Amino acid sequence: MQKNKVILLLSGGIDSTTLLAKLKAEGKEVIAISFFYEQKHAIELEYAKENAKKYNVLEHRTIQLDSQLFSSSALVNNNEKLSTYENGIKPEGQENAYVPYRNLVFLSLALSLAETKNINDIYVAFNNDDSINFWDCTSTFLSQINTISGTSKTKIHAPLINLSKKEVVRLAKKINVNLEETISCYQPTDNNECGKCLSCLVKNDALNRQ
Ligand SMILES: [Zn+2]
Repeated sequence: MQKNKVILLLSGGIDSTTLLAKLKAEGKEVIAISFFYEQKHAIELEYAKENAKKYNVLEHRTIQLDSQLFSSSALVNNNEKLSTYENGIKPEGQENAYVPYRNLVFLSLALSLAETKNINDIYVAFNNDDSINFWDCTSTFLSQINTISGTSKTKIHAPLINLSKKEVVRLAKKINVNLEETISCYQPTDNNECGKCLSCLVKNDALNRQ
């Protein structure tokens, strides 16, 4: 068993970058994995790459997936407009940025890599605000996957799952994560966040309420 080595799902956003900084501060050796599936915000992968370098991960792998798997999602399908929230009111329940079973796919691949490399711990940066709109970020979902993976002694950890986005931002600041070096928008233009999508809404709300 590789006790100090862990696998982290790294997206380039505030949550996973903050978790990366936290794991490194705790002395963990991190193997980061990111995913390319022709997402509209594929620029996040550049941020993931820079943060992987900055935080000195052991290895950063970007796994490429066929975008057709996810083409019902507005996050992937160029003919579907992502919902926007100019009125500043957060939606309840699932919205069209949801990607079909994405987190199950991502975590399954992380489990494959973990078993291959004899690593017992996988980290994912779900937060409590995610669970409002995405069922595959909830603690129920997490415990259900851990029931399966438990047979192989590999555990998936989501240490930010009880924190709101506001609390994640607070933690980020406390451990000196440079928020300018992260990107959260679902539809950025180059490096500029749109300010209107669900992700921008949640992020800006968290920043404004510090
Ligand atoms: Zn946006």
